[in-house]
Amino acid sequence: MREHALRLESKDDARRFHARMVNACIRAHAQATPLRPEQLHVAIIGAGATGVELAAELHRTTRQVVAYGLDRVDPDKDIKVSVIEAADRVLPALPPRLSQATADLLRQLGVDVHTGAKVAEVRSDRVCLADGRMFVAELVVWAAGVKAPDFLEDLAGLETNRINQLVVHPTLQTTRDENIFALGDCAACPWLGANGNVPPRAQAAHQQASHLFGQIRKRLAGKPLREYRYRDFGSLVSLGEFSTVGNMMGGLVGGNLMIEGRFARLMYVSLYKMHEVALHGVPKVTLDTLARMLTRRTEPHVKLH
Ligand SMILES: Cc1cc2nc3c(=O)[nH]c(=O)nc-3n(C[C@H](O)[C@H](O)[C@H](O)COP(=O)(O)OP(=O)(O)OC[C@H]3O[C@@H](n4cnc5c(N)ncnc54)[C@H](O)[C@@H]3O)c2cc1C
Repeated sequence: MREHALRLESKDDARRFHARMVNACIRAHAQATPLRPEQLHVAIIGAGATGVELAAELHRTTRQVVAYGLDRVDPDKDIKVSVIEAADRVLPALPPRLSQATADLLRQLGVDVHTGAKVAEVRSDRVCLADGRMFVAELVVWAAGVKAPDFLEDLAGLETNRINQLVVHPTLQTTRDENIFALGDCAACPWLGANGNVPPRAQAAHQQASHLFGQIRKRLAGKPLREYRYRDFGSLVSLGEFSTVGNMMGGLVGGNLMIEGRFARLMYVSLYKMHEVALHGVPKVTLDTLARMLTRRTEPHVKLH
């Protein structure tokens, strides 16, 4: 996996994948010989939000790339996207009904969905499963979970887990030094009231940051610390221009509300804008949104270089 699969954890990873995908299309268009079996096949390992969003988005993006005159590539026949998931359904963290709706939509788009499929090895031109099956692929993307950076392992003797996260108490204090706190993706924090740890999500990192701000003040004042309790407000998964699915949790909606289609899309876009506003403020985001609305009509949708 480390040798042959691409990751999507940073902007550079995303750029690398973009360049490989565009180059693969250009190469296929330019070559005089027939396509090799693995050529223009993309295998995405992991059908969580990242894998599913990427599969739907690739359906649209590859068609746009080919539309720039790569007419010897037939997107329906030549380009194949497969999603390979070890669990028995896509989006295992969401309710089964949304998993089913998402799998149906992906299949309608021509994406091959393989569930109950545990990847054992990635080679230069294929993905091998534990049960002996193989899928040929020119590009393999790892979207089956993130790992904290290697430098955290053995950092000043602090306790870490299998994926290099610093193990913390519910107060966000590391287990071996109460003056060192950790939050977000790099922290393995118990999920109070549920099994396991708080999931590595933006909403958890955001909540922990707000919580920690108060905790550090308390610590400096010598007051007792409060435990962090994760509040899951739900998840939204964008299937590009085709649909959006998700669920909203918590007191606001009185439990677990499943949402799909235009309403879910609106929520997804609003949430994204809220993140932008939190980082850049209202004036900058308003101007940026207006600028994008104007330039969208004149700029190419996919960069070819
Ligand atoms: C492709 C993808 C899609 C995602 N989609 C969603 C989603 O839809 N919804 C959701 O809730 N979550 C999503 N997540 C998860 C979400 O991005 C993370 O949970 C969240 O960003 C965690 O925040 P953080 O501050 O802990 O870490 P990060 O946001 O990763 O921030 C850590 C920062 O530290 C910097 N850094 C790293 N090492 C060093 C160093 N040695 N010195 C200095 N700086 C360093 C990094 O460059 C980075 O900027 C997604 C993640 C990925 C990879």
